[in-house]
Amino acid sequence: MKIGVIGGGQLGRMLALAGTPLGMNFAFLDPAPDACAAALGEHIRADYGDQDHLRQLADEVDLVTFEFESVPAETVAFLSQFVPVYPSAAALRIARDRWFEKSLFQELGIPTPAFADVQSQADLDAAVAAIGLPAVLKTRTLGYDGKGQKVLRKATDVVGAFAELGSVSCILEGFVPFTGEVSLIAVRGRDGERRFYPLVHNTHDNGILRLSVASTAHPLQALAEDYVGRVLERLDYVGVLAFEFFEIDGGLKANEIAPRVHNSGHWTIEGAECSQFENHLRAVAGLPLGSTAKLGESAMLNFIGEVPPLAQAIAIQDCHVHHYGKAFKAGRKVGHATLRSANRATLDRQITAVESLIEKA
Ligand code: AMP
Repeated sequence: MKIGVIGGGQLGRMLALAGTPLGMNFAFLDPAPDACAAALGEHIRADYGDQDHLRQLADEVDLVTFEFESVPAETVAFLSQFVPVYPSAAALRIARDRWFEKSLFQELGIPTPAFADVQSQADLDAAVAAIGLPAVLKTRTLGYDGKGQKVLRKATDVVGAFAELGSVSCILEGFVPFTGEVSLIAVRGRDGERRFYPLVHNTHDNGILRLSVASTAHPLQALAEDYVGRVLERLDYVGVLAFEFFEIDGGLKANEIAPRVHNSGHWTIEGAECSQFENHLRAVAGLPLGSTAKLGESAMLNFIGEVPPLAQAIAIQDCHVHHYGKAFKAGRKVGHATLRSANRATLDRQITAVESLIEKA
């Protein structure tokens, strides 16, 4: 089976690493000359709107999937004429736009921060009057890793904020004084079979995910599965979906969904029976899903900017290094480590050991 992937970054690379043992081959469509997934499959170097190359991809593969959600809707619609595309164009349309996704959560009875659509500075002023400060102004599309957003704490922060984000469609959200951030990685097959991984506790630095720790018997697991299940069913979703929540007052408020494999699920490569990458491929290929059970305690630390010295990192017990083969650059995700342990105390010591290597690098 040959899988076409829109995007050729580390997520595409890890999809190929998971699918190759299953006999799958891969073609990645990505305009970047140095797309890091190219080492694992064919690289069709073209823009996402290039219909000739999209047609070439469609002709070569059995199905198409995505490693990022900011794909133009026309690209998905075009491909869908020739080849099965998972997740669907409708799911991508919602997940790539913060207004559509929050509106869907509200419709499905999933709690969210207060939010308002902002198309101008006047809209922003009105939204701030209604929602209050502090609040977070975010672009509706194309934001990632804390980019395309601004926290508004006082009245002077509001002045000119719409222009600062580029005068594009935005959403204003009430600031959530959360006690924690968690994500649930779910997978749904073509036949509607569903599996959920354990809730993951996430820590960010400057808007970029730094540490994910898989939880054991989290008290909000069932609630999170209920919320995510509503979205999976409504969208008739096929593939892996990541859902990020704020933990507050013993409950959850929805932040956002990603219609793809997700950084907070990287621990599953060594930390779960079947990784998010393999399960995504199983789902889109119409194969039975794999177990999402955790293997002991597990955590993931991102390598941002550079990968620490390999020999020292892999000398740490049960530290599994993933180097994405990307050029090192400040603020860029260039690799990660999965840690695995029989108990939480040892896991915490492993996390500290990797953190100190990262600090020294
Ligand atoms: P996002 O790109 O929406 O996931 O936002 C990146 C990070 O900014 C989140 O992981 C939170 O740490 C923070 N953040 C985003 N939205 C809010 C909010 N409404 N209230 C408080 N913090 C937020």
